[in-house]
Amino acid sequence: MTNSPRHLELTRCRARRLAAASIAGILLVATQVAAHAQGTPADVLIRNGRVIDGTGGPARNVDVAITGDRITFIGDATRSKITATRTIDARGLIVAPGFIDPHTHALEDLNSNDPKRRANLNYLMQGVTTVITGNDGGGPYEVARTLAKWKSDGIGSNGALLVGFGSVRSAIMKMSDARAEGAQLDSMRSLVEKGMREGALGMSTGLYYAPQSFTTTEEVIELAKVASRNGGIYDSHLRDESSYTVGLLGAIREAIRIGKEAGMPVNISHIKALGTDVWGRSDSAIAIVEAARAAGQKVTADQYPYTASGSSVGASLLPRWAEVGGGDSLRARVADPATRAKLVTDMTENLRRRGGAASLLMTSTRDASILGKTLEQVAKARGIPPVEAAIQIILNGGSSVASFNMNEKDIEAFMRKPWVMTGSDGSGGHPRKYGTFPKKWSEYVRGKKILTPEAFVHQSSQLTAETFGIKDRGVIAQGKIADVVVFDDATFKDQSTYEKPTELAVGMKYVVVNGKIVVDGGSYTGITPGVGITR
Ligand SMILES: [Zn+2]
Repeated sequence: MTNSPRHLELTRCRARRLAAASIAGILLVATQVAAHAQGTPADVLIRNGRVIDGTGGPARNVDVAITGDRITFIGDATRSKITATRTIDARGLIVAPGFIDPHTHALEDLNSNDPKRRANLNYLMQGVTTVITGNDGGGPYEVARTLAKWKSDGIGSNGALLVGFGSVRSAIMKMSDARAEGAQLDSMRSLVEKGMREGALGMSTGLYYAPQSFTTTEEVIELAKVASRNGGIYDSHLRDESSYTVGLLGAIREAIRIGKEAGMPVNISHIKALGTDVWGRSDSAIAIVEAARAAGQKVTADQYPYTASGSSVGASLLPRWAEVGGGDSLRARVADPATRAKLVTDMTENLRRRGGAASLLMTSTRDASILGKTLEQVAKARGIPPVEAAIQIILNGGSSVASFNMNEKDIEAFMRKPWVMTGSDGSGGHPRKYGTFPKKWSEYVRGKKILTPEAFVHQSSQLTAETFGIKDRGVIAQGKIADVVVFDDATFKDQSTYEKPTELAVGMKYVVVNGKIVVDGGSYTGITPGVGITR
């Protein structure tokens, strides 16, 4: 036996490996210790932190070294004589894999000519090092072109894309509610194929929204099959999260059927029970998902921790039949007295469904006079019924809304499930774009203790990487890509509100993306080390 530091470290590593293996079975250690021990300094050494590695296993007090874009050492740096060009003292702080957000609307930011938007700081300050975008059916099929733009312009976080079924259908079918015929279906197939071959992680849909709402389940299955044979996931904003058409449970069954018949994993976007008609149905929704999982299907969901969803006045209240053909057709329907009467009836019912006029808050609109007001306040000020005010707003260019329609019990029931990831669905005007991960941490982990810190990190990193087929990320383990965050358990918190939705989160001390420090001591360093991630 020898007592060399290297030998001791290897022994320690073996012991730790056994412990880690019994917890989660994936921690890899020890192969590059030799290089470090021989005196080659690492680039970054994060010392004295509490490492929550993303696997769901318990936190450990270990040091983490990074060389190039990889994690090259985990263990006791002093004992192994690890040195580094830059040392971060993480005493009292949590070290975790960079969070991965499976549902964002960051595409415009990442594609922007404004370097500040491309930095994606609203996500970096939440600890999110990778955003998946193109959700709700809105993703591009020009995947290679988008990835090339990110590479040449530079992005702050990593990004990954989903091909949008809505973009594909609109390209071929416009706003038509007709069934796609053979040649049209073939054209749509070829666009999905193109996006997948160029590196998309899967196909997204937003079957609630026109024109995607006009499609049959069978048509979606046909296109999902193309994503499936390219190894992709089916990611869906359900046809109904409430009681509009097929109902929440019917829509979950539809998504599961699509995944089953196309032979691919299914992810339910921002799972929720929207509106009093379906409050309490989280139990049934969970039972349906868990039955499919028990039968061997891969079914997951993501969720943001807010009682308001983010939508628009039109998408919330217009019946989909009124949107067939697009904006001009809608205007013609409003102008026709008989059609208008039917429209008002349907919109009145949809408003009831969502909780009434006081539950819709205008968050982003070109009409400054209504910004920050509820539909009820706008209607009162104009002396007209809420639905009439809604029609005026829609015809005047529309408005984004925060739509208060969920209850805490359902939110917590979904959140406790080990197959539910953290996902922001970040969009303009809603605080979730700046606050999802820290809000979930401060309220549901530190506050109500609905989740352990380890479960939160797992739902925000490894689970998402595995679900979406992102390789070599989502865990703190030797040999993995160095997307690492360091934050303060006590102060990590959202600052964004419905009134001030663009306040950056606090408490995120260090963010490392591909081995480069992009947030240092809580401040953005100005670099753009993000890459486009493909399958
Ligand atoms: Zn959505």
